[in-house]
Amino acid sequence: MSSEKSYLVVGGCGFLGRFIVEALLAKGEKNIHVFDIRKSFEDDRVVFHIGDIRKSEDLEAACKGITTVFHTASPTHGMGYDIYYSVNVTGTQKLVDACVKCGVKQLVYTSSSSVVFNGADIANGDETMPYVAKHLDPYNKTKELGERAVLEAHSTTDLLVCALRPAGIFGPRDVQGWPQFLKAAKEGKNKFMFGSGDNLCDWTYIDNVVHAHLLAAQHMTKESPISGNAYFITNDEPIPF
Ligand code: NAD
Repeated sequence: MSSEKSYLVVGGCGFLGRFIVEALLAKGEKNIHVFDIRKSFEDDRVVFHIGDIRKSEDLEAACKGITTVFHTASPTHGMGYDIYYSVNVTGTQKLVDACVKCGVKQLVYTSSSSVVFNGADIANGDETMPYVAKHLDPYNKTKELGERAVLEAHSTTDLLVCALRPAGIFGPRDVQGWPQFLKAAKEGKNKFMFGSGDNLCDWTYIDNVVHAHLLAAQHMTKESPISGNAYFITNDEPIPF
């Protein structure tokens, strides 16, 4: 049965965003909007807003009448600092501002476990870990700054906010993660092994990441302790990499 909520999935034409849209549809939700800089699929049940997260006017037009925003937008891998900063930091701040201006109730931000990773091993890490002082790359740095912008809204506005931090995500329709690793392997490009080969790296199945987003939206109320916090998302134990 559908709720009274209305949803905007920012980055809803991407790998994760589209699965969130499909999960909302499968739950019988009726008011589903997508905001993205491109359109990657057709669905009559979804309202599409083609726009740029770096433009407040685009965001405000899409946020009108929305109760819950999922923010999954980010530039693809391998870009430079400026593009990551403008989308992940400036764009995220503009989205927070648009949510507040339009009276959105909840904002669930897709962050990344990389905000606490500087290349050193992490075993049994939890949410008490601090952000790292020096990030490995511009993507990681700007995911931290974007996360901070979202979480700060908890103390400065009435918007309910949380950040979800998956590590790697895998599943159908992914074009960036495992397909690229497998392509490199098939082309004989994986010729080096770092360490003993026993290294672990966390990969979470897309359905579990989607489930975490829906749970956050379902349970993040004024009375719950969720808003203002970040949560790591995983399947269970890390899988051998
Ligand atoms: P994706 O590239 O498939 O989707 C991102 C979407 O954002 C795309 O549809 C893209 O068009 C859109 N977008 C980019 N710039 C935009 C802009 N300026 N304005 C509006 N839309 C814009 O990425 P994904 O794999 O689905 O990742 C979703 C989120 O999860 C990202 O925030 C990413 O940082 C995070 N994350 C991903 C992984 C992973 O392994 N895929 C792991 C950890 C965290």
